[in-house]
Amino acid sequence: MKLVHSIAEMRALSRSARSAGKRLGLVPTMGALHEGHVSLVRAAKAKTDIVAASIFVNPTQFGPNEDFAKYPRNLENDCARLELQGVEWVFAPATEEMYSSNSATWVTVEGLSDRLCGKSRPGHFRGVTTVVSKLFHIIEPDAAFFGQKDAAQHAIIRRMVLDLNMPVAIEICPIVREPDGLAMSSRNAYLSVQERKSALVLHRSLMRVQDMFARGERNAERLIALARKEFNSESIVRLDYFEIVDPDTLEPTPCINGRSLVAVAAFLGKTRLIDNVVLGA
Ligand code: AMP
Repeated sequence: MKLVHSIAEMRALSRSARSAGKRLGLVPTMGALHEGHVSLVRAAKAKTDIVAASIFVNPTQFGPNEDFAKYPRNLENDCARLELQGVEWVFAPATEEMYSSNSATWVTVEGLSDRLCGKSRPGHFRGVTTVVSKLFHIIEPDAAFFGQKDAAQHAIIRRMVLDLNMPVAIEICPIVREPDGLAMSSRNAYLSVQERKSALVLHRSLMRVQDMFARGERNAERLIALARKEFNSESIVRLDYFEIVDPDTLEPTPCINGRSLVAVAAFLGKTRLIDNVVLGA
């Protein structure tokens, strides 16, 4: 496995592999890898010839009062994990390599970027789409692999790829969970013992909604009210949003006819966690 820090070297490697007829897969991450990330790597290994994983804690997707400085970083462990999975290249550029001090260009998917997490994290998705565009330009992958856990993120990236005619197939992999249902996240490491217990309410509320949907309930307002009740029983959890939306446009769906995304975000202390489930899939 090759660890690459420079854009020029990354580009040279990927260009030469492509000209040798190899299909390239990209797994973009911010590091602090867990089984969720590994599942994306496995999917990439199965579907492409050469897999690049990027590890970059992207400053432009963090708000001024968010956890950019304390976000967990452990390149050595991450590389060991990726090497075990047979990843060929790890692209881990420094911030100054990715953003020059006079950088002034953004990629923004309008509308969608202000929904769900975009409402409470202004500018977050603009940072994501900008850095993902840069990674696509640098590596020119045939396919890129994202997790269903960040459902709004992949809806926005799918829109961007269509709108800007990017020749990249976007592959979505299922959410990987802890045995008790908590969605794996690098941010779970921030949780205290009490918060870790209370965090289960995210998954529990989604399961409650899924169950009522299976019993025939189609009214989004009533389903959301049920979920909110679950949150009321967890005093240390502050609900950010609980919404039922179209998985492509992220617009609310008052009555569930086709596929709907049930998405939740909540704070445990300063830690913000997200989770979701798709109904009618
Ligand atoms: P991150 O490092 O948090 O930016 O995540 C990198 C990629 O891993 C994103 O596409 C996430 O959606 C995906 N991911 C994170 N957590 C999980 C999980 N529990 N299951 C599946 N994919 C995940």
